[in-house]
Amino acid sequence: MSDRLKVAILGSTGSIGTQALSIAAAHPDRIEVVALSAHSNADLLLEQARRFGVADIALADADAAAHASGHSVSAGDPFVIVGGGPDAVVRLATETGAQVVLNALVGAAGLRVTWETVQAGLTLALANKESLVVGGELIMPLVEDGKLIPVDSEHSAIFQCLLGEDARDVELLWLTASGGPFRGRTREELSGITAEQALAHPTWTMGPKITIDSATLMNKGLEVIEAHHLFGIDYDRIRVVVHPQSCVHSMVEYSDGSVKAHLGVTDMRIPIQYAFSHPRRWEAPVTPIDFTTLGSLDFEPADLSVFGCLRTAFQVGKTGGTAPAVMNAANETGVAAFLEGKCGFLGIEEVVQRVLSEHDVQIVESLEQLESVDSWSRSRAKAVLDAL
Ligand code: NDP
Ligand code: MG
Repeated sequence: MSDRLKVAILGSTGSIGTQALSIAAAHPDRIEVVALSAHSNADLLLEQARRFGVADIALADADAAAHASGHSVSAGDPFVIVGGGPDAVVRLATETGAQVVLNALVGAAGLRVTWETVQAGLTLALANKESLVVGGELIMPLVEDGKLIPVDSEHSAIFQCLLGEDARDVELLWLTASGGPFRGRTREELSGITAEQALAHPTWTMGPKITIDSATLMNKGLEVIEAHHLFGIDYDRIRVVVHPQSCVHSMVEYSDGSVKAHLGVTDMRIPIQYAFSHPRRWEAPVTPIDFTTLGSLDFEPADLSVFGCLRTAFQVGKTGGTAPAVMNAANETGVAAFLEGKCGFLGIEEVVQRVLSEHDVQIVESLEQLESVDSWSRSRAKAVLDAL
């Protein structure tokens, strides 16, 4: 058992985190979970720590951590060390002996974990796309060869389609998009959408923030920027295609006209497990696609005149510098407001565009600069929302 892979699962109480733990549970001979973190869901975090015998856990919310700390001792769990605050979560990445850190935090809150993991030369299994959107220009030059394995299904697909190929032969990356629950709608129809309608995604079950991003297509916009950084490819060679069945997870087109596609069922456990098993593959608890009953696969262009967030993300990606950090923070603020019923569905896009128009783009120089741009964008977004 000593040669088991030591894995830190950060954001373990979320959609990706719980699925990652199901992979760990299915492969106890291969994976040892050494650290777990959440924001404030102490009950689930403690339950996970007991189940997997994890000594090092942290809650980003300091009050929740203080509360849980008392509980864990009184519940007779001396092995559980509860740390509190965002720094405690980041320390888990580098101070627990993890070989692989799964960053499954949501939002720009994941930036420091990505940064510290890369700096420490550990393998980063990256679900938290926002950290690359915000800090890709700073982070990617520091990544050692083979130490960043994407978990996002499209990027895992492209990563796998690129294996054994020469980067010079890549013509285009084709990112597939389900189109979300509002594919084919007009802007007028989008204006009355409620949070409940937007939370009902047709093909994937995910956390609330990414589900709303999938409905606005901001998720695809974030993924375009993520792909640019991960694979070092210009924006004019990244294409988005709507594919409602979500069966083709993405494709790479080569200079000789060949296209490699990655297909599979819509189950995040496959790319999560691959990030741990790479370069090998382990048996997964999913029923593979039966092509004899699959039926047809459809492809169509994304409607950029309706889904303004995707259009904006392409422009912002090309602008680069601090623009993506501003867009991301305004989007996070807009999504939270929409979920709380404080703005309409199209209000998210409006907030993002208004805050971007107020920003003078700077060259990215440091993490501190990105964090201060992020806070500025959030406070401007709140002011814009108040005035809507
Ligand atoms: P969830 O909202 O389901 O889970 C988020 C996790 O992060 C929870 O453990 C949560 O803790 C924790 N968390 C939330 N805020 C903070 C914070 N400020 N500091 C520290 N921890 C925090 O999100 P998902 O699992 O859906 O998504 C995680 C990431 O993976 C996102 O970047 C998303 O874009 C990406 N992703 C997700 C996919 C999916 O299928 N879900 C697919 C592809 C990518 P608590 O429970 O206490 O709130
Ligand atoms: Mg994705």
